[in-house]
Order: sequence, then C-alpha cells, then structure tokens
Amino acid sequence: MAKINSEDFLENGITVEETIEVAHMLEDRGMDAIEMSGGTFESGKLIPSRVGTSKSEEREVYYRKTAETFKKEIGIPLILVGGFLSFNVVQDVVDSGLADYIALSRPLIREPNLISRWAGGDRTKATYISCNKCFSTLSMKEALHCAVEKKNKE
Ligand code: SF4
Repeated sequence: MAKINSEDFLENGITVEETIEVAHMLEDRGMDAIEMSGGTFESGKLIPSRVGTSKSEEREVYYRKTAETFKKEIGIPLILVGGFLSFNVVQDVVDSGLADYIALSRPLIREPNLISRWAGGDRTKATYISCNKCFSTLSMKEALHCAVEKKNKE
C-alpha cells in the first residue's frame, strides 16, 4: 500500500491531477491500495491535522471531493484519512462507496480503544477535540500521547 498526498494547497504545489497520475503509476505497478491524505504543515488551515474538526459533522471528511475523483479514476481500494470522528460519518463514507476503508490518527491517540468501543455497540463520537496539543508531546521524553487526556487524569 502507499500513502500519498492528494494536493498541497500551496502555490505551485502538487495538484490533484498530478497525484491521480501518480496513483495510476502505483496501480500499474501492482500496489494493493492507496491511502489518500492532503496538505502540508505549510498549508495554513488546510494542514493534514486540522483544528476544530470536532465542532460539527460537516467539518469531517476533509477530502470528500478529491476522494470522489480518486474513486472514479483508480481501480484499487482507496483508504481515506482526515477528520473522522463520528461512527455514522465513517459508515456513510464506506457504505456510499466514497472510500473502501478509512484511517484514523488523532482519534486513536486520544482513544486507542475507539474501534473496540464502536464494535461493542457504543457508537458515540470519538472524544478527541482536534486541538493538536498532542504534537507538543512529540518533543517530550514520554511517547506520543493525548495532552488533553493526560491533563484530565491529573
Ligand atoms: S491532544 Fe488529544 S484531543 Fe487534542 S488533538 Fe491530540 S489526541 Fe486529540
């Protein structure tokens, strides 16, 4: 599998048209699936780990439009990342065929058992609040962790 950016959201940066070409090359070379993200840490509000996603379901699924394009263009499974918090949103993305799989990052930093929780019947929203404070823990001696969760436990 390969994880690629769909676009940079930067002047003269990588465009969706270009990454579709890359996706075709990967597909032609036998890749089993592509995970699609987008943006860079220079992309302002469109960074890969956006702040404020948890405020409404409408803010989830950052790359919805681009995923539609990818699904039309490529024949191998698409794994979509970016902004997922709500079980019903995840289910809709997969059921509608927008993506074959979804990927999670910050929700699992906050709640490593999130998938077990959902599988066990508790389908309430992931508890992470898309604040990005966990990035500051990368420079600490402790392993990457949710700074909010840790504070709540103190
Ligand atoms: S610090 Fe915790 S709540 Fe904030 S984005 Fe990171 S994992 Fe989510």
